[in-house]
Amino acid sequence: MRDAVPPEPSGRAAGAADRRPCMAFAADGRGGDGCPRHADANPSGGAASHGVGLPRHPRASQSIELGGHIIAFELRRSARRSLALHVGPQGLSVRAPHGLPWPEIEAFLHRKAAWIVRHLQRHGQRVAPAWPEPTPALLAQARVVLAARVAHFAPLLGVQPRALRLSSARTRWGSASSRGTIALNWRLAFVPAPLADYVVVHELAHLREMHHGPAFWALVAQVLPDYAERRAALRRIALV
Ligand SMILES: [Zn+2]
Repeated sequence: MRDAVPPEPSGRAAGAADRRPCMAFAADGRGGDGCPRHADANPSGGAASHGVGLPRHPRASQSIELGGHIIAFELRRSARRSLALHVGPQGLSVRAPHGLPWPEIEAFLHRKAAWIVRHLQRHGQRVAPAWPEPTPALLAQARVVLAARVAHFAPLLGVQPRALRLSSARTRWGSASSRGTIALNWRLAFVPAPLADYVVVHELAHLREMHHGPAFWALVAQVLPDYAERRAALRRIALV
């Protein structure tokens, strides 16, 4: 009865992430760099969520464990007749009728657990670093840093990129081309090294597997067994 709440009350929540083919490499609409723009097929995407903080609602008054995550949420009671969920940048908010017993709310949240966790992950707190001004000197410094990581990881993946290009895209961290070149966003020199390394490995792996299928992710995992955590953490850094 109370499940009549629409399964996705916040339509906006479902949109953005679905259109992004991969987190190291967000589509920019051109798709001309060779890095494939298909749907994210990361088979271990679910595992990426563990250990990653979900937004805690600033007016949280309750918490519940859903899918292995402790979720602190706002509970607002009113004269409404049904339960409703809303997930936004602030976290989960639950609207409930006056007098509805807690066990019924709890049961409802458990039924919606997968949806809640998925949407909270998409809204996970993102940080927007104050990127430095890309002066020629700074870009030269970034190139040295990133070229060293490429030189480190290329032999581990058995590839030899023809060229490393620095990109200043606001929509993607990196890309790879079938011609054997890779492009890395200069801002990667200013994120935690383990996260930048994930992008380096991701793009180098594309020189062998130009897709996001299981063989691609298996190759990434050979070099970075914890790539899913790194990928999830990178996802929380806004490029713009
Ligand atoms: Zn990719």
